[in-house]
Amino acid sequence: MKFFIINSGSSSIKYQVIEMADESVLATGLVERIGEDRGRLRNTAFPGTGHEQEAVIEQPIPDHRSGMLLAIATLTDRDKGVIRQASEIDAIGHRVVHGGEDFRGSMRITAAVIEVLRHNIPLAPLHNPANLDGIRVAREIFPEVPQVAVFDTAFHQTMPPRAYLYAIPYALYQTDRVRRYGFHGTSHRFVAGECARLLDRPLSACNLITIHLGNGCSITAIENGHSVDTSLGMTPLEGLVMGTRSGDVDPALHLFLKQNKGMGLEAIDDLLNKESGLKGLCGMNDMRDIHRAAGAGDVRARLAVEVQTYRIRKYIGAYMAVLGRVDAIVFTAGIGENDPIVRAESLKGMEPFGVRLDPERNRLRDRDARRISAPDSAIQVWVIPTNEELAIAREMARVLRD
Ligand code: AMP
Repeated sequence: MKFFIINSGSSSIKYQVIEMADESVLATGLVERIGEDRGRLRNTAFPGTGHEQEAVIEQPIPDHRSGMLLAIATLTDRDKGVIRQASEIDAIGHRVVHGGEDFRGSMRITAAVIEVLRHNIPLAPLHNPANLDGIRVAREIFPEVPQVAVFDTAFHQTMPPRAYLYAIPYALYQTDRVRRYGFHGTSHRFVAGECARLLDRPLSACNLITIHLGNGCSITAIENGHSVDTSLGMTPLEGLVMGTRSGDVDPALHLFLKQNKGMGLEAIDDLLNKESGLKGLCGMNDMRDIHRAAGAGDVRARLAVEVQTYRIRKYIGAYMAVLGRVDAIVFTAGIGENDPIVRAESLKGMEPFGVRLDPERNRLRDRDARRISAPDSAIQVWVIPTNEELAIAREMARVLRD
């Protein structure tokens, strides 16, 4: 079985082809600058020879349909393709950002599911229309192929009302579904499953704190395998300090910025989503640049790391209180997998709570999952690489089997 996994953005399509027999990646690619003058496709094929083959095509890509057709033409290219023809694709999986309260799990896509996704556009006005574009085009090109939607929010639908409600007039929840939803669910679910496997017990018997630290950041409290709280909220702005997103701020900041800076709501939204977080604090949002600058004496770069890791520590403490018993803390995504400094600072001073890092293991660079806590640490600490595409593929297999 070959699965085609699509993450359709407003001007890009990220894709992967996975051979499910051995879960190997046959190709990964990115179509970008859709709708601009100079579109670009970058495809990396893994034809099974041990040698990757890169292809870059630059040409105008007016819309998602032409972007997807270009990707398929590249995948089926006689010399460099990894499949002979498009009909070898057995199923298509779509990453969908917001499933609202309607989807507690992945769904086979039907006209009714599309209708519900449309209904959820107000909850994710930037992302859901782009995801819907990808679904529409894929259904046009592959009308016979089963398609599955996998939602970023679904894993967190097990949160209890005490965790998902904002303390604002309840009517706003009833009429407009204003509540916390959480995101990065596919990633949290995937590393939780991997962690359970490594701990050699069923996920349903595991209490975990999973920390996804990439450009976007979130932390999840998992009780007996279910998400019971998570730091991202109604939108992916709440919670931890991220690359360019502020995370938690006093909501009265909006009024202050309006009254004192004359800013409109859209400008404030831009400021909090695109100009804040690590970038807002020190001008950089790539953690590698920030460490380099901090090493060279840049005080604000150092401060940015401190603010981010202090916030992570506060949330870990809060989720320990939520869970009572914690079996393991898991770090994942770009920063979580690669940055020993951020991991160590996030767990600084937690020995009294039973968290003891092994500094040597923490510094070790490895692509595989690894335990980085000391043998006598009551709570284990793990680094587990996330793999959202593989997580989507496994979800697809499950949905299509059921
Ligand atoms: P992601 O969103 O998971 O792709 O993560 C992207 C972020 O991971 C980048 O913006 C970097 O800040 C961070 N990152 C990637 N590689 C490293 C590394 N070797 N050390 C520290 N941070 C890294």
